[in-house]
Amino acid sequence: RVVVVGSVNMDVLTRCVRMPRPGETVPGRSVSLLPGGKGANQAVAARRAGAATSMVGAVGDDDFGRILRDFLDSEHLDLGRLAAVPGASGTAVILVDGSGENAITIVPGANDRVLPNSLDGIPLTPGDILLLQGEIPEATNIAAIARAREAGAVTVLNLAPYRPTPPDVLRDVDYLVVNETEFANVTGVGADPAAAMTSDRVEGLLADGAGVAPNVVVTLGAEGLLARLDGTVLRVPGFPVTAVDTTGAGDCFCGAFGAALARSEEPEQALRYASAAAALSVRSHGAGPSMPTDAAINHFLGS
Ligand code: ADP
Repeated sequence: RVVVVGSVNMDVLTRCVRMPRPGETVPGRSVSLLPGGKGANQAVAARRAGAATSMVGAVGDDDFGRILRDFLDSEHLDLGRLAAVPGASGTAVILVDGSGENAITIVPGANDRVLPNSLDGIPLTPGDILLLQGEIPEATNIAAIARAREAGAVTVLNLAPYRPTPPDVLRDVDYLVVNETEFANVTGVGADPAAAMTSDRVEGLLADGAGVAPNVVVTLGAEGLLARLDGTVLRVPGFPVTAVDTTGAGDCFCGAFGAALARSEEPEQALRYASAAAALSVRSHGAGPSMPTDAAINHFLGS
């Protein structure tokens, strides 16, 4: 089983001809409401990849909250611990201009009310995989990591968006999953972290033990990933696909990785499976809707 403790957002996506300047109004081309949030995206990815999955979190008592709950229910997630709290649901307002450039405001709303007691009473067992991200209060992640350790469950922390995290917290997670920019932040490299981080540099840092957690996975977009598993650094090349929308690739990766671990796949095998899932997800638009099924992933891996 996969248990996701994380964020649920409504993404309000507006396409405009060009970005408005402060004080300016510009015509928009389209607007869509898309269920999102890293927690919800990863939960949908894990479920579609074949794992029984619980979504632990909160939505508001507003219209978005009802739509989000219905959506997650339609994806066959266990919502027994998805609270409805007074106030607004987490909401992301996204502007995308004609060149694909975006500007985003995220209101955490109900996600800020996912408190450390969220996992109280949830039976966690040694085979369970706990997936965490950076869009709910840090105290909740810390409490969840402690609960998982007690229960012998495996924790995967996707430190996205990045936030400074004490080394003793990172040491207690089983897998830290970050992209290049987040890894640069974790390791404190350079004034312009993204520019400073080549894959050779990532490889060297991983070999030196950077990232603190016992196992660290650094995703490299189309290049694939580098990981340190039990002290051994390995590279999993990206699958060649034509990318049309990479939104949610990291979420798809984490969800599918969790599902593969929940089936007791070897970590290296689980990374390959997750890479295939994420490669499939970038071939179509949207985050939630582009998450592939277990059948599609296996077909892609076998082809
Ligand atoms: P994030 O979306 O968090 O920045 P990445 O861009 O590193 O994360 O993507 C996560 C994973 O998705 C990669 O490790 C890779 O497996 C897959 N992926 C992303 N972009 C592509 C692409 N263009 N082609 C193939 N696989 C991709």
